[in-house]
Amino acid sequence: FVIPDFQDFIKDVEEMYWAAKSNSDGKVASYIPQLARASAENWGVSVCTIDGQRFSIGDVNVPFTLQSCSKPLTYAMALETLGPDVVHKYVGTEPSGRNFNELVLDYNMKPHNPMINAGAILVCSLLKTLDRPEMTLAEKFDYVMSFFSRLAGNEPLGFNNAVFLSEREAADRNYALGFYMREHKCYPEKTNFRECMDFYFQCCSMEANCDIMSIMAATLANGGICPITDEKVLRPDSVRNVLSLMHSCGMYDYSGQFAFKVGLPAKSGVSGAMLIVVPNVMGICTWSPPLDPLGNSCRGLQFCDDMIKRFNFHKYDNI
Ligand code: GLU
Repeated sequence: FVIPDFQDFIKDVEEMYWAAKSNSDGKVASYIPQLARASAENWGVSVCTIDGQRFSIGDVNVPFTLQSCSKPLTYAMALETLGPDVVHKYVGTEPSGRNFNELVLDYNMKPHNPMINAGAILVCSLLKTLDRPEMTLAEKFDYVMSFFSRLAGNEPLGFNNAVFLSEREAADRNYALGFYMREHKCYPEKTNFRECMDFYFQCCSMEANCDIMSIMAATLANGGICPITDEKVLRPDSVRNVLSLMHSCGMYDYSGQFAFKVGLPAKSGVSGAMLIVVPNVMGICTWSPPLDPLGNSCRGLQFCDDMIKRFNFHKYDNI
């Protein structure tokens, strides 16, 4: 086993879980009513090792929308189907140093990276336009959903239509980003702008839970082979690229500090979810809706800090 004494490890996870549970910092996202209604009490942690040992505690079966946690997944899919050269003709690999939805492009007039809104919208246009362009938006939706599900050991994902409709209504900034990129000819030719935006909102509105998301993180930790089904879902080079950008750009405007302190690739979303990858060891998903001012889950961050104090999972711990 990759974690030989799993029972012992679980004891630590439980302690870290209960310690973070009493943390009442942060505010639940409120830009749409569907997210504002989430309970600040919700707190779940799931772990899945690369050899398939699993442990979950708390609200691990309650569905939440993927939101920005979908960004590394659509990026992974684009790398897998189109290859890194094509993808990075359109989107950069540099942290923006700015807010996730800031109206800004890099000095090549491309979005900075696929982990912020502009980059993720662009990745959606690549997936929609370049990979199997004959597919309708409906077919593309199924195609992406089943890809995400394969990352999660074929667990079914959900879709929250109320969140989708609300996201689309409250999306002035995302449309502004979308138009700004169109002005600068960022998209591949033939991109249908409206479909591309809808596709982005749909990816944000897909639903999963901690249990399921920990398997996705474990597939990344395992170089693209799902530890539950043994299916090779991603090539190792795709995983390497995804993890690199999660490491440098995955935690909004806290990414540099997170890389310094925790030293693990991770991605958070506005629903309070966090995907954390310990390469060659395990995937973790934490979920708790209250967010700090930069948009990261307060309990999730506390859990990571605590974990790095107890275990040598930081990228440079074994130096
Ligand atoms: N749906 C949100 C947006 O596009 C995602 C935000 C997030 O999770 O960072 O603004």
